[in-house]
Amino acid sequence: MTKLRAIPKMDKLLSCEELKKFNTAALKPLITHFLEKYRHNLLDGGEVLEFQDCVEEIKNLYLQQSQKSLTPVINATGIVVHTNLGRSVFSHEILEEIMPLLSSYNNLEYDLKEGNRTERYYHLRNLFRLLVPCEDILIVNNNAAAVFLILNTFAKGKEVIVSRGELIEIGGSFRIPRVMEDSGAILREIGTTNKTYLQDYKEALNENTAMIFKAHKSNYEIKGFSYEVDYKELIDFAKEKEILDYYDLGSGYLGFKKENLDKTEISLEEIAALNPSLVSFSGDKLLGSTQAGIIFGKKKYINALKKNQLLRMLRVDKFTLSCLEATLKAYLDKAYHKIPTFAFIAQTKEELYQKAQELLTLIPTCFAPQILPSQSYSGGGAMPNKALPSYAIALNSPKAQKLENALREHKIIARIEQEKVLLDVRTLYKQDFAKIQTALLAIAKE
Ligand SMILES: *Cc1c(COP(=O)(O)O)cnc(C)c1O
Repeated sequence: MTKLRAIPKMDKLLSCEELKKFNTAALKPLITHFLEKYRHNLLDGGEVLEFQDCVEEIKNLYLQQSQKSLTPVINATGIVVHTNLGRSVFSHEILEEIMPLLSSYNNLEYDLKEGNRTERYYHLRNLFRLLVPCEDILIVNNNAAAVFLILNTFAKGKEVIVSRGELIEIGGSFRIPRVMEDSGAILREIGTTNKTYLQDYKEALNENTAMIFKAHKSNYEIKGFSYEVDYKELIDFAKEKEILDYYDLGSGYLGFKKENLDKTEISLEEIAALNPSLVSFSGDKLLGSTQAGIIFGKKKYINALKKNQLLRMLRVDKFTLSCLEATLKAYLDKAYHKIPTFAFIAQTKEELYQKAQELLTLIPTCFAPQILPSQSYSGGGAMPNKALPSYAIALNSPKAQKLENALREHKIIARIEQEKVLLDVRTLYKQDFAKIQTALLAIAKE
């Protein structure tokens, strides 16, 4: 078929003015793929393309695929720790603080006094212990890794007692029974979904019991008749029987006034005062720092964790450690404005209303905007049922779903309630307001 002669040669494409500035090795497979499709199209009776049209298509393909994919978004959902939106926002101020450290050599595993090698975990120990009195700490990749490491270290081939009310699934990919099985621990379920007594723990105990495991229920709550053993009682019981007590706290917070939070949510200081064997929690939930699993407790147990080869696979780098260290320092200095998650949760109703009024003035009137009371959430599995009262700008539109889609194209994530698109102000920065205005003006024009 003579038409096939119109297919341009690879070399000619690679050397043409518009394409030769791109990464040749990356471009080649795209051209091969394009030419293949072009050939098939011609064989199927398709049109011959101009050389320049081929170049244009290849160029667009390259530009499209070489785009960076991660991008900032505006969180108008009111959910502060939103896992799909990157969990806790990391502090701009702290990033600037740690920049010199991150872009230079540093003493990550080097003792400057002795001039020899040391471990990376001691950097945060003093700071953390000033905030949360405990014997020692260890940082791993995330809290899921902490759970796995602890079970694998102390309960491989041994029994772990867990209340049936705490056999939870988090985020669809983390199921306590599965994690336990994969770590080599043997799950010993006790009690019922709604009630577990100390007697159940006593009856389950045998010579192969390694640990009592308590998990924060994170994303659910039992309403109605329920009973669970007080954590203090569990710790005392474990101590008496010389087994380990471990609390997978999920989130974990510092510094908040209780009125900002669910009163039943125990703080890290309160837990530490109970003198537990081991506790773990996430760095990027209520603590408001970066992804990490923070383990604290008795030194002898932390030392045992450090001897597990798994730690090498779960270890964190200088980015994680320096981000965490700086966040802890901000807590110690009570510089809460440096921790966005903290600041977002601590906003008062008056502040939120003021924000809503300010945003309202910028919304195009065609959306008939109004301020509505709204329920926002801390998110991240902490306080699932504690709504934080907030305000939202409600946008009226004949097609709420279409408006929500259009906002998403402008990287603004909103929610729909009763046919209205809501922009909750709790999770908005003042500098988001102008962007929201620009987006809505553009959407209004369409
Ligand atoms: C969130 C959570 C985890 C997982 O923590 P990651 O830091 O996301 O790995 C584990 N257990 C509980 C109870 C949680 O809430």
